[in-house]
Amino acid sequence: MKRGILFVVSGPSGAGKGTICKELVRRTGIALSVSMTTRPPRRSEAEGREYIFVSREAFMEKISRNAFLEYAEVYGNYYGTPAESVRDILDSGGDVVLEIDVQGALKVKASCPESVSVFILPPSMGELRKRITARGTESDASISLRLGETLKEIRRVGEYDYCIVNDRLDEAVDRLAAIVVAENSRAGRGLRELVESYMEEM
Ligand code: ADP
Ligand code: 5GP
Repeated sequence: MKRGILFVVSGPSGAGKGTICKELVRRTGIALSVSMTTRPPRRSEAEGREYIFVSREAFMEKISRNAFLEYAEVYGNYYGTPAESVRDILDSGGDVVLEIDVQGALKVKASCPESVSVFILPPSMGELRKRITARGTESDASISLRLGETLKEIRRVGEYDYCIVNDRLDEAVDRLAAIVVAENSRAGRGLRELVESYMEEM
């Protein structure tokens, strides 16, 4: 059976990664991995939906058991991708999207070179500032911390397979959906069995 494709969506905080990924899931039904984090839940978030919220101790225990595909400390909290659930979906032929930070995305690229990385850019720094503030989920200190990392993150964009500027949301989602279709149409991916089936029929 053809293995699923691992898509990694990344970029600075407030660029619109979460919004774009949720819309992609709504449109296509693609699986979105739910990460584990030590960050406290926001008012709008539910346990197991946006994240699995755990203590630092529980997170460290998962690290020691090698339970993460990748993990990183981001803006003062730990975030990690549970390895088992992602592997199960890929093994059964389903595609998976990870919405993770830049450090995590580059770790996944190094350990799974066949994964597909997509960087989400805001249309401008001014618009990024506006969006992260308007989201209304962060304290002033957290907004400063997040914006302070932005330029460092954006400098890594050349290491990604694709980049989408999230100006109009619909267009950004169209582009991400097009990347998913294009990667599933690559001649090199999972075609051996299909090619062999033609030989068997001859
Ligand atoms: P991230 O996951 O990258 O931190 P979010 O998806 O939470 O970013 O988006 C940050 C804020 O910007 C949210 O309030 C969201 O509704 C808004 N937003 C996302 N994409 C757009 C867009 N294309 N145009 C205007 N606002 C957007
Ligand atoms: P937030 O606190 O805004 O939900 O997320 C902060 C940052 O952590 C975002 O860039 C988000 O993509 C990233 N993130 C979420 N889950 C993971 C994960 O499992 N691993 C890594 N490395 N980053 C993550």
